[in-house]
Amino acid sequence: MKRAGKVWLIGAGPGDPELLTLKAARALGEADVLLVDDLANPAVLAHARPGARVVPVGKRGGCRSTPQAFIEKLMIRCARRGLTVARVKGGDPFVFGRGGEEMLALAAAGIKFEIAGGITAGMGAAAAFGIPLTHRDMARGVAFVTGHTRDGAPPDWHALVAARTTLVIYMGITRCAQIMDALLAAGLAPDTPAAAIQNATLATERCIIAGAAGLARAVASAGLGSPAVLVIGEVVRLARQTQIEPRIAPEDTCPQPHAA
Ligand code: SAH
Repeated sequence: MKRAGKVWLIGAGPGDPELLTLKAARALGEADVLLVDDLANPAVLAHARPGARVVPVGKRGGCRSTPQAFIEKLMIRCARRGLTVARVKGGDPFVFGRGGEEMLALAAAGIKFEIAGGITAGMGAAAAFGIPLTHRDMARGVAFVTGHTRDGAPPDWHALVAARTTLVIYMGITRCAQIMDALLAAGLAPDTPAAAIQNATLATERCIIAGAAGLARAVASAGLGSPAVLVIGEVVRLARQTQIEPRIAPEDTCPQPHAA
């Protein structure tokens, strides 16, 4: 009897390959075919089996993104042929990652699937710069929202400002000025600390911090671009703007054996 195929929906984390879960690493190693988004760091593919087929399906690097329907059909076709498929996405597959759509398509097609969650960019960025997203003296919670909705309708900024939660905005950097204007119009205090964090957890990461009213200007003059998250709220006051310690290669951090 033919082996039943299956699909892993895998979160590759925000960038740093050390932020991959052990489950994701195991899932990558089980795959015959890997369909990889471009926000997933290719370094995580070191966990794939030699000989596994890697298919990039992202839109960066000059190509138009592979249509979502095509990706879903390809996953289903491969699984029906008995293959184990790894669908590899940046961050977490269920946070602005279309993992939900893919899971529903797999379920509708009767394909077995498993999820290996990942560290989402907003959490990776906050951890990298020492921003405690829900510090209880400063925030009642945290909201992950998108600055770029499918139907073009903006989030309910009034409700978000009134909730007094830390705001983490994905896909908003290119519309930073409009978003900040909308937040200020919705009642956000102009001196609320705000951060824009690009390439979080990678060696190229950058973080700009300003008052809410000055963030867009600071982002423009620093030339910050995608991929970046905006983090807005009192907790940003606690951020360290630059890494206190430089990134060290793992081999340099290994304890040295004692000299006999
Ligand atoms: N599923 C992903 C999000 C995909 S949407 C996750 O959970 O992280 C793409 C958006 O994610 C980008 O526009 C940007 O806002 C954010 N993003 C992804 N990687 C990032 C990184 N390394 N640094 C900052 N933002 C990042």
